[in-house]
Parts: sequence; structure tokens; C-alpha cells
Amino acid sequence: MIRVGIVGYGTIGKRIADAVSKQDDMEVVGVFKTRPNFEAWSAIKRGYPLYVPEDRFADFEKNGIPVKGSLKDLLSVSDIVVDATPNKVGKENKKMYVERKIKAIFQGGEKADVADVSFNALANYEEAIGKSYVRVVSCNTTGLVRVLYLLDRDYGVRSVRGTIVRRGADPKEVKKGPLNSIVLDPPHIPSHHAEDVKTILRHIDIVTVAVAVPTTLMHVHILNIRLRSKVSKEDVVKSLESTPRILLVNSGFTGIKSTSEIIEVARDIGRSRYDIYENVVWEDTLAVDGDEVFIVQGVQQEAIVVPENIDAIRAVSGVETSGRRSMMKTDKVLRIGEWPWSKLLLV
Ligand code: NAD
Repeated sequence: MIRVGIVGYGTIGKRIADAVSKQDDMEVVGVFKTRPNFEAWSAIKRGYPLYVPEDRFADFEKNGIPVKGSLKDLLSVSDIVVDATPNKVGKENKKMYVERKIKAIFQGGEKADVADVSFNALANYEEAIGKSYVRVVSCNTTGLVRVLYLLDRDYGVRSVRGTIVRRGADPKEVKKGPLNSIVLDPPHIPSHHAEDVKTILRHIDIVTVAVAVPTTLMHVHILNIRLRSKVSKEDVVKSLESTPRILLVNSGFTGIKSTSEIIEVARDIGRSRYDIYENVVWEDTLAVDGDEVFIVQGVQQEAIVVPENIDAIRAVSGVETSGRRSMMKTDKVLRIGEWPWSKLLLV
């Protein structure tokens, strides 16, 4: 059993904790939280031992939240830490992990140089095997890399020009926006997403532009991809269908033409927190003209990186040397690819 400590129990950390606890080769030994808020209660309710800053024990206990120990205590019982703290905190925390010789997985809000390798399970699992520090790239980058890796593997990608329509905030965030605007986010081209894709797919010519809009459910990517050879739509569909981490949705057949409707299906089929781990590619907007491919896809920011973190834990620990086997295991446990229109649905 790989003993996993989760440092930072917010949007991403809580989902990783739940996903770890469902696997048979790893366990959650504890979560570290800084504030005695509702998320501390959820952690206790789910049976995760709670570790908090030493000088805050009293604050938690005053609120009736039982504390197991400090961060040092959590690190002493963990084989690997998943750091899911806010952007740039991971870099600070790394000093402690290095001092204690503990392996760590960071998230996409950290700069690439925080880790030995930026990670996507489909594209470069093998590069992360046995490494001490790995960074799972952001939600947008994960969504981009999955599609681009498959098309590059099968046909070669010559160039990518992408527009990213970003959700303004996560559903729980009360202080973020925009509320009534479309914001250039960032106000320059290329946006950082293109550079981030290149931390994994180093040779790809990619330019992205991003805007943030008033929604919390998902991001949407509109991609124009030039391949190195002419292909048919069937070829592209076949490549994308080679992993359950890409979900093809036909709007004509399902009636799903929006992020709200795909989220509603996730609710209907009982996905925990309506999490969607898959890229949602609209099959009927997928257009091919010779070597040029147009793709529109949805990315649920809160969930897409969760299976990648599970695979990163296996790679870093060295228990599984095949990315394909790790992904199959993760996908089965998280029921990735099971949708009402797939043959696999077991509800
Ligand atoms: P979040 O704010 O929801 O959660 C972070 C948690 O860490 C909070 O509970 C916060 O209280 C806690 N925290 C703050 N300082 C801490 C410290 N010093 N030590 C331990 N815990 C601390 O943030 P999030 O959205 O879960 O993001 C975490 C990471 O995941 C970031 O790198 C982010 O860029 C990345 N990420 C976020 C999303 C997303 O859409 N939310 C998607 C993919 C990747």
C-alpha cells in the first residue's frame, strides 16, 4: 500500500483524497488543512485523519474538530505527498519535502520548474517513473495534451491554434468573477496554456488565446489543428476513442449542446460531485478538411486532473511501470468512460 498524504484539502485536494481512497494499492494516511472550516468537517466525516499547523490546534479543537497532528507528523507517516495547495504555496512547501526526503506531486498552479517532470498519464507516464517531484499540469493543459498527444501519435501535429473559454471561478468560490464581463485572461497572445503544453509535448507548434466568462461549470476549448497528413473524420474519431479519458458526445443523438447539459448527465448518473474526468468532445462539431481538424471540447476543471494524480502516484512510487496498466486501473475504479450511451454503463 502506498501511503499518501494530501497537503491542501480544497477543490482539487478533496477529490484526489476520495480517488486515492477508492484504489486498492494506495491509501490516504491524512490530510493537512490550515483553516477550521466546512472542508475540515468533510474530511473528518470521510474518515481522513486531519493534520493542521501546530499553532492552530486550539482553533480546530475549539470548533470540535479532532486533530491528529502537525504537518511534520503527516509527513512522517506518508510515502508520497500530493500537494494541492494554492498556486505558489507548493514551491514553498517543497523545501520541507526535500529536507525530509519525501516524494511529492504538485499541481498545475506551480511553475514547471517545481518538479523534475510535468506529467500527463497518456503522454509521458514513463518519464515520471521513480522521480521524486512531479507536476500534474493544469486542467486546461491536461485537456489539450490528451487530444494533441493522440493526434500527434497517430498522424503528427504540425500546428495548433486554440481559443480557451475559461470558467470565471469554481462553484464554491464566492469572491471571484467575472460576474458580467468577458475578460482577456491573460491579455496577451499566446496565453500561458500553449507554453504549458510544451512542457510535455515539447515539439508542438501551439498558440492559444484565452478569455474568462461568467460561468463556473467547465472550460470550453475551440481548437484548429493542422496535421502532417490528410485524414478523415473517422480516423480522428478512432484516435480519440482509443482512450476512455476522451468522451465523444453527439449533440444530435443526446441533445447535449452545452456544458450545463453534460453536467446534468453527470448528476443523473451519480457521478460524485458531478465530476467529469473525461475531455468532452462534441462529435458533431468535429470537422476535418484534408489535414485540418476542428475540435470543440469541454473540460471540467475540478475533476480532469484527478485520474492524472492517481497515475502520477503510481509512477512516482515505481509500483507500476506501465502507464497503460495504471490508467486502466484508475479508469475502472473511477468508472471513467461509463456514460449512458456507452456500452460500459453499469448503473
Ligand atoms: P483551493 O483554494 O480550492 O484549495 C487549496 C487548499 O489549500 C485550501 O483548502 C487552502 O485553505 C489550503 N491551503 C492554503 N495554504 C496552505 C498551506 N500553506 N498549506 C496547506 N494548505 C494550504 O485550490 P484548488 O483549486 O484546489 O487548487 C489547488 C492547486 O490545483 C493549484 O495549483 C491549482 O492551480 C491547481 N488546479 C486547480 C484547478 C481548479 O480549477 N480548481 C484545476 C486544476 C488544477
